[in-house]
Amino acid sequence: MSVFSHPEYRDHQHVAFHYDRSSGLKAIIAIHNTQLGPALGGCRMWPYASDEEALRDVLRLSRGMTYKSAIANLKLGGGKAVIIGDPRSGKTDALLHAMGDFIESLGGRYITAEDSGTKVADIAKIAERTAHISGLVQGSEHGGDPSPTTAYGVFVGLQAAVEHRFGKSDLSGLKVAVQGVGNVGFRLAQHLRDAGAELYVTDIFAQNVDRAVTELGATAVSEEGLWDLDVDVFAPCALGAVINDTTIERLRAPIVAGAANNQLASEAHGDMLRQKEILYAPDYVINAGGIMDAYYQRHGGSAEQLKAHVETIEQTLLEIFQRSERDQLPTSVVADRMAEERFRLR
Ligand code: NAD
Repeated sequence: MSVFSHPEYRDHQHVAFHYDRSSGLKAIIAIHNTQLGPALGGCRMWPYASDEEALRDVLRLSRGMTYKSAIANLKLGGGKAVIIGDPRSGKTDALLHAMGDFIESLGGRYITAEDSGTKVADIAKIAERTAHISGLVQGSEHGGDPSPTTAYGVFVGLQAAVEHRFGKSDLSGLKVAVQGVGNVGFRLAQHLRDAGAELYVTDIFAQNVDRAVTELGATAVSEEGLWDLDVDVFAPCALGAVINDTTIERLRAPIVAGAANNQLASEAHGDMLRQKEILYAPDYVINAGGIMDAYYQRHGGSAEQLKAHVETIEQTLLEIFQRSERDQLPTSVVADRMAEERFRLR
């Protein structure tokens, strides 16, 4: 298994591998960049088929965190941790303690948080061995769940996209298709409903759809039917890689603005969206409310300060949209460049 020549190894500062014989912990922490501050990123637990797969994931995700925090103007760098194991059967107190010791050994350069396969209770267990954690409410004004903040940020960002594309800030009558009405998607739909938008929703869980129909007056659509809808905005709030060769052909909405991480199946799809004149709000810019929430939970600050920070997503997106037009580049590329200007030059 190569590290330095790995295709996802792109200027990472530190990659640490750890094996703890007594608990069986096998974990990797990747610190991509700490130019702006300590590297914050979740701790994922997953039954990776190989060490190689785990390495790929941690390298890719840690780099993504550097870009997300930089564009969100936070004094944070990018990092991520992965535990190789089954989150349903592999968790023991000893394993989580060993993970805490591993994080502690990095002296605060990496700060952990919840992610796929880890819950608040697991972070609490890790916290028995290290203070370098985020996502536990410690006398903070903000709750432990960042979803409401993420949803508000996506709403603000969606408004910016509408303003840029249609030249209006009024959302009444705007048709929005929301894919996935879970923690973030449902709350986004609430904001949109309050602003007078017409909602079309889909979810693989029927009860989530029912709730949106009953409580928000949304129209239910099938998973497949979503792609053919004649709507103004497509808001992906479920899973990654939803913009791919197949869906891009069918997509009729002139705006893509939603919460899901890694929406583009590949970098090329950013360019394909631009060529189809579909305005794309880059995922890690529009969904940064969650990391902002984590930052304020850890560093303090009032709910008003957090809200004001989240509202900066509007200006950031408007700048990205303008630069994209000026330089004839996909918004995804412009976002990356803007983030790099912040973490490379300081
Ligand atoms: P969630 O699990 O609460 O909601 C996701 C919803 O999507 C669920 O209701 C699920 O049933 C549905 N879903 C799954 N597959 C689907 C499919 N094929 N078609 C339609 N619906 C489908 O998760 P969440 O916390 O709301 O996060 C949603 C997305 O936003 C994820 O990609 C997540 O990584 C991203 N995100 C979340 C936060 C946050 O604060 N929670 C922050 C940043 C990014």
